[in-house]
Order: sequence, then structure tokens, then C-alpha cells
Amino acid sequence: MSLPSLPIFRFAPSPNGRLHLGHAYSALYTDHWARAMGGTMLLRIEDIDIGRCRPEFVEAIFDDLRWLGLDWPQPVRFQSHHFDDYQGAFARLKARDLVYPCFCTRAQIRAAGGSGTDPDGAPLYPGTCRHLAPEERERRFAAGERAQWRLDIEAALRVAAHPAIREAMPDPDSRPASRAADPARWGDVVLVRKDIPTSYHLSVVVDDALQGVGHVTRGMDLYAATDIHVLLQGLLGLPPPLYTHHRLVLDRDADKLSKSRRSESLGDLREKGWSAAAVRHHLGFEEASPRFT
Ligand code: GLU
Repeated sequence: MSLPSLPIFRFAPSPNGRLHLGHAYSALYTDHWARAMGGTMLLRIEDIDIGRCRPEFVEAIFDDLRWLGLDWPQPVRFQSHHFDDYQGAFARLKARDLVYPCFCTRAQIRAAGGSGTDPDGAPLYPGTCRHLAPEERERRFAAGERAQWRLDIEAALRVAAHPAIREAMPDPDSRPASRAADPARWGDVVLVRKDIPTSYHLSVVVDDALQGVGHVTRGMDLYAATDIHVLLQGLLGLPPPLYTHHRLVLDRDADKLSKSRRSESLGDLREKGWSAAAVRHHLGFEEASPRFT
């Protein structure tokens, strides 16, 4: 086998709704890779958004994954129990002046307009708060204004120039290839939200490192986010995992399945009488030869 031994994989759903076929595909795919490489698949619950995540969805994740025939080591890491870890990483970036507080609301950013959109289609941050004077920042904090903290992407790229992503094809014999990341297209991303002492980007890189994840397998919907993740790994001195981005499962209208669009859940399919074997077959995971793409 030409890949180095990278035995730890992870499946990391957010408990803000029921899992759908897209999640089932990602979990089965990750489990298959982990087994093919002689490794383990961890389960991580990404529940930093405490307002939207619910305990019953956590239980449903466990139940749906067990029903699919999957298993994972204990204890499961819940991100909401580890805000200190994310704050620790944030403090290191702050000490190097790579982040700044931003007091803007979404409406103000939209109104400022004009500088294009990030890969998720959100308006790029126009930089309004990037160079506020320290006294102005202090005055606004003292007045009770709340801030999110943004990465100063230009400063970050001066420190960690030329971030690259190591990728592998879904085949244990494939040789990883490196491609240049382009994190600048995200602009000054939010690393610590106003309402939560972290963000998706910050938590995911901290956890992948803390959990020793050597190989991240996830959907193409997160392909562009990887650009930011490898930059943060470089800034924080964290070991960069190998990445594989798999295809997305589409609905009848060729749209990506999503919780917010109320796509049919695994629970709905179970109620309709689908068996776990039928789901595996439908997604191309026959025991002998998975039809990956
Ligand atoms: N929690 C993310 C989601 O449910 C996945 C994060 C990741 O795989 O990096 O979409």
C-alpha cells in the first residue's frame, strides 16, 4: 500500500435535524475507508450551535447509525463540552494579531456591499472593522457592544504563505496529491461568533488535531472550506490531515439533500419500510465492491 498508515477517520454530523441519505452516504463511505485502511471511524457530534442543536437529534444520530450497521469507539466527542479548547486556539491567534473584533451586523455587511461573495455565496466582509483604533474597540466593548472575531486573511497569509491541501482518491492504493489552497476567496472569516465562543472552522481543525484524525472524508459541499482549514492548521501548527471529498447525494430535482430543505430523513425511510440493506444498496455500498464516486 502506498499511503502512509493514517488510521483515524471521523464522521462529524451536527444534531440540528434528522440525518438523511447524504449523511448515510458519508458515514458509510468513511466507515468503508477506515476499514480498508485498517483504521477506525470516530463519531463526533458538532453541536456548537446550542440554539439549533437538540438532544433528541443526538439520540436519533446514534440510533440511525447503529441501524445502518455502524459502530464507533467511546467516548463520543461533543464539541459543546470543549469550548475551552477552541478558546485556547483562538487566544494563540489573537496573541499574534491575526484576528480582530468586528461589530458589524449581517445587515450592515450586506448594505456595505460590492466586494463579491465567498464560496458559500455570502457577501465577502468589506473590512469595515479591520483597522479600528484600539481605543475605538475598547470604547465599543465598554459600551456593551458584542463582537465576532475575524481572521485577518492578509495577515494570516503573510505568516502561513502557500497553504496546500493533500488529497487522496477513494482507493487504498492511491498516492496523495497536493494542490494549492486559496483561502483568500473566503475573505476575513469569522472564527469566534457573537453568540458562541467558537465557529465551525475553528472547532473542526482543533478537534481533528486533538483526536488524531489523519484522514478527513467528507462531501464536496465542504471542498472550499478545506482551504480555510489548511490555513488554520498552518497558523496553529497542527498536523494537516489527508482529505477526500466525496460526491453528494442528490434528490429527484438534482438538488443537494439538506436538513433545511426538509429532505426525506433516514427516519422517514425507516417508517416507509426501507431496510438498512436497501439503503446501503441504494447508495452503492454492496459489501464486496462499493460503487464509490
Ligand atoms: N458538521 C458538519 C456537517 O454536519 C461536517 C463537518 C466536517 O465534516 O468537517 O455538515
